[in-house]
Amino acid sequence: MESNNFSLMHPRDQIILAINRIYRKGLTTTSGGNLSIIDGEGNIWITPAAVDKGSLTPKDIMCLLPDGTIEGPHRPSSELPFHKAIYEIRPDIKAVVHAHPPALVSFSICRQVPDTRIIPQAQQVCGPIGYAPYSLPGSQKLGDAIASEFAKGFNSVIMENHGTVVGGKNLIEAYERFEAMEFCARTLINSKALGVPKFLDEEQLAAFDRQIPHDVPEMDEVLSTSDEKEIRADIVRMVRRACDQGLMMSTYGTASVRWRDNDFLITRTDVTRWNIGLDDIVQIRDGQREPGKVPSRAMWLHHEIYRRNPKVNAIIMTQPPYLMAFGATHEHMDVKTIPESWIFLQDMPNLPFGSQFAGKTDIPEMISNKIAAVLVNNDAVIVTGKTLLQAFDRLEVAEFSAKSLCMGKAIGRFHPIGDEEIEELKRAFF
Ligand SMILES: [Zn+2]
Repeated sequence: MESNNFSLMHPRDQIILAINRIYRKGLTTTSGGNLSIIDGEGNIWITPAAVDKGSLTPKDIMCLLPDGTIEGPHRPSSELPFHKAIYEIRPDIKAVVHAHPPALVSFSICRQVPDTRIIPQAQQVCGPIGYAPYSLPGSQKLGDAIASEFAKGFNSVIMENHGTVVGGKNLIEAYERFEAMEFCARTLINSKALGVPKFLDEEQLAAFDRQIPHDVPEMDEVLSTSDEKEIRADIVRMVRRACDQGLMMSTYGTASVRWRDNDFLITRTDVTRWNIGLDDIVQIRDGQREPGKVPSRAMWLHHEIYRRNPKVNAIIMTQPPYLMAFGATHEHMDVKTIPESWIFLQDMPNLPFGSQFAGKTDIPEMISNKIAAVLVNNDAVIVTGKTLLQAFDRLEVAEFSAKSLCMGKAIGRFHPIGDEEIEELKRAFF
């Protein structure tokens, strides 16, 4: 049922696709959470009450007509009042996602709002976050409390002692906002386990925005070869896999693969990563881009890495929540945890925010045989490999190591592998 033309799908099918994704990613329990879409005629399509989220089908989706009639085989979600209240107060919002994902619930029970200035894209996607005081679930009072936050212009709201609710101009946007907000909350929680998170200022956030490479000249003709098509398919497969494994979110993440000489293929900007298609990959040849497509804002950086490092054939840039805890606290991650981590990574230096921008050469210079991955503070991890699979493998190992280190903080002091053992690993594996 996966389709790139999400918005052309019937609201029932869109809701099923999104709820399946939310459930599979551990962002809701089977009983909690509800999604809705308002269509052009004012019909509200919404998930049913008390039906297993793990086995919903399109025919289970309920519909509230503008005249108040309810159609469908079940009762609509008990939270229909607040969905309705949001649509009434904000006509620009056409889809609503509500759930109880664990990290955002942590914020809701500590009665705090996550500060999204930790990573530029979290801030861009979620915007400022509102806070609705507690009221009985399903009550009109809860609907009013939430609607009054949306009336202030917030698109994302923490519901006190309950969860979160987000809106969007369509369901894709609402889902992406929801996912980015939970990733941001996880990164903040992991950062606090590790140290003190550092936040970006307005100038740094604005500088990030200016990096989208609209001005790269377009090529006259796309050179379509069989090896080029094979690379496209590989990138699509790997990006989707990274999303499924929790290593990439819908709104951020870039992958590229060298094609011929310094020409390469790269994901385009503003694409829903988990639903990426072959057409979302941009060919970069002789410094020119495929017509009509804007490549990732990291295009320049990827180009420079390929130009300076002939052995690097693939690059992945992403923001997994444990590695980003190191990125957000500016803490150096010691990879001498277990042999696997050291063998795969050896070291992963931190670089200041901004070193990923066009014109800076620190990262391309640092990437070499010894340094395969770097962490850009408050932005992303950049992992390279001889192949895309090797880059992915390194990314997965790095995120697992980061997770073990964050979790290990709760149980005791960290004892790295000693120098003698490292020498032994060098002799055995290099
Ligand atoms: Zn709820």
